Amino acid sequence: MARIGFVGLGNMGLPMARNLAKAGHEVRGYDLSADAMDAAAEGGIQRAQSAPDAARGADIVITMLPAGAHVRAAWAEMAPVAEPHAVLIDCSTIDVETARQVAAGKPMLDAPVSGGTMGAEAGTLTFMVGGDAASFAKARPILEKMGRTIVHCGEAGAGQAAKLCNNMLLAISMIGTSEAFTLAEKLGLSHEALFEVASKSSGQCWSLTTYCPVPGPVPGSPANRDYKPGFATALMLKDLGLSQQAAEAAGAATPLGAAALALYERFAAEGGAGSDFSGIINMLRGTSRG
Ligand code: NAD
Repeated sequence: MARIGFVGLGNMGLPMARNLAKAGHEVRGYDLSADAMDAAAEGGIQRAQSAPDAARGADIVITMLPAGAHVRAAWAEMAPVAEPHAVLIDCSTIDVETARQVAAGKPMLDAPVSGGTMGAEAGTLTFMVGGDAASFAKARPILEKMGRTIVHCGEAGAGQAAKLCNNMLLAISMIGTSEAFTLAEKLGLSHEALFEVASKSSGQCWSLTTYCPVPGPVPGSPANRDYKPGFATALMLKDLGLSQQAAEAAGAATPLGAAALALYERFAAEGGAGSDFSGIINMLRGTSRG
């Protein structure tokens, strides 16, 4: 069993760390929040006094923090005290450039996740991993205790790149699906008829068949519970901001990504930040004529 240091015990980090402890690993955790530390102790996680204290003596060190600035600060403190053999893993969603810079010269992986808090609880997250093959091989059995799908995407930063590209595509497809339902409503076409046709033809996509933005066709989708997240608009907005930042830096043309960011910014400003990102259909309906 491995000794694991885990820093950032929030909505995602706490259930992930708990799953590692449940699997029999010795997990020492640290979070700035006293409440998070108490909840972690109840989940079988030992209390570290600081981020470097969590990293000291560990075989694996994991961070799950809000944004790039937190990740930079935490690793600046922890890298000097980490064991030479330790594998360092950042699971936060951050910009590609920061991920590359933080990993430079270290046995470090960027391993952002998808699957949300439900996936974190259930241990069914998808990990998108960037970094060297040897570190990935050592990390894999640990990641498997927190996730079901583990994909090695390439060198440092490739995990973040995969996450940003995927979520940009998701936002675009959700807006497209919502526009199709909004138009169908105007044309007098039922939700069921559009779903029946599009889910079996060329309009088929995850936003339609798994996460349908209207209630009915997919009983488990957030539309059936008044757009309670799920995947909150505020989190989608963060990821779209990162993908546009990456597109600008790399010189990639992403006009629909830019449009998706603008639409989600408006939805958030109009009160949608806390609702599921599929709730954007209500904004589209609201701005339709008649
Ligand atoms: P969160 O805000 O619930 O948790 C972050 C935790 O980090 C907080 O408990 C905070 O106190 C702690 N923290 C901040 N700075 C710290 C420091 N220097 N040392 C120790 N602890 C510190 O956020 P979350 O929802 O758990 O998300 C974490 C990351 O995962 C984010 O990058 C987010 O974008 C990504 N993510 C979230 C979801 C989701 O559904 N919530 C899904 C996929 C990815």
